[in-house]
Amino acid sequence: MDLDVLDTVLKQRKQPAFRRRQIVRAAQHEFKGAWSELTTLPKELRGQLEAEVPFSTLTIDLEERSSDGSVKLRMLTHDGFPLEAVLMRFERGGAGKEGREKLPPRYTACLSSQSGCALSCTFCATGKMKLGRNLTRHEIVDQFLELARRRQSGSPDGEGRIDNVVMMGMGEPFHNYDEVMAAIRTLNSSDGPGLAARRIAISTVGWVPGIEKLAKEEIQVKLALSLHAPNDQDRGLLMPVNKKFPIARLMQACAYYRAQTKRRIFIEYLMLDGVNDSTEHAKELAHLLNAQEGPGGFHVNLIAYNPTGTDYIGSSDETVRRFSTILERSGLETSYRVSRARDISGACGQLAAPVEAARRRQREEKLARSKARDEVPTPA
Ligand code: SF4
Repeated sequence: MDLDVLDTVLKQRKQPAFRRRQIVRAAQHEFKGAWSELTTLPKELRGQLEAEVPFSTLTIDLEERSSDGSVKLRMLTHDGFPLEAVLMRFERGGAGKEGREKLPPRYTACLSSQSGCALSCTFCATGKMKLGRNLTRHEIVDQFLELARRRQSGSPDGEGRIDNVVMMGMGEPFHNYDEVMAAIRTLNSSDGPGLAARRIAISTVGWVPGIEKLAKEEIQVKLALSLHAPNDQDRGLLMPVNKKFPIARLMQACAYYRAQTKRRIFIEYLMLDGVNDSTEHAKELAHLLNAQEGPGGFHVNLIAYNPTGTDYIGSSDETVRRFSTILERSGLETSYRVSRARDISGACGQLAAPVEAARRRQREEKLARSKARDEVPTPA
């Protein structure tokens, strides 16, 4: 919901200040999905709000469910820009106290900060879309709420929560810094979803001004840095942004961030066969990260490549194991990220809404709605 529009309407209707809090809490904390569900509001006001304030800033264009239990939503902004968000379901191994109960799965919402992206990383489907526009704070929060409602209605007791948020969908979050931070504060707020800041991660391709700005924020969100190669030559081929911020400059920004926050940085490393996955690459990466300040400052997430219509191929399991062993022996904590929602093109690097198709569908729906209105017989 666009809270600026809500504020204007509530002011015009001379509503008391508590109304806003009541509405925000119902929408963002209790995950109500329509004005008709806010039965504590006076009926007349509810009708006025229904007519003047869309309950969500986004309309759902497509909903897909993966065989692994994840959900992908393709949505449209009011002016027809497409974006995608994914609710990823992670099964957890291990057993409960008695050794019998299985731990419940975890749910992570992957949200977009932009419709499209300007940075053209060569392995990424979003990069091929080019940039549409930055998303507003309300549009970012509404992605979460759409997913949260599905999570809640899909859980047996209706209490299902989302455990984590990653700003890892479409776009470079630091190209839309203020709106992303405002959305994160809402997600963190006790009147909103109340998600702990440490459960929220921002993922950047290494936009240095954003890293340095985040270092000064008081909110304790996690920082993930997509590195994908340990030297400028290889990284430059994968990520054009490396020309602007080469690795040495990036490491300077990381050192500054670490000094300010004392928090670990998560290094994202896509495993691409024959591109960045050799023994030499692993040693070079270990050297680069350990040279910064010794082990402990970084955690390396090795990521499986998800097909995006490029010539890249993901590394074999054996290569990933070898790569990971070299990093771990050097003292770096390392994990391997399992792909989610790959069968519905909702995995890392795969988000790309076909812009024209989505806009055409929105135009057709609008036309159908206005036709239907025109066809309503007027009373004699
Ligand atoms: S990886 Fe991220 S920054 Fe790079 S093109 Fe894709 S969305 Fe943009």
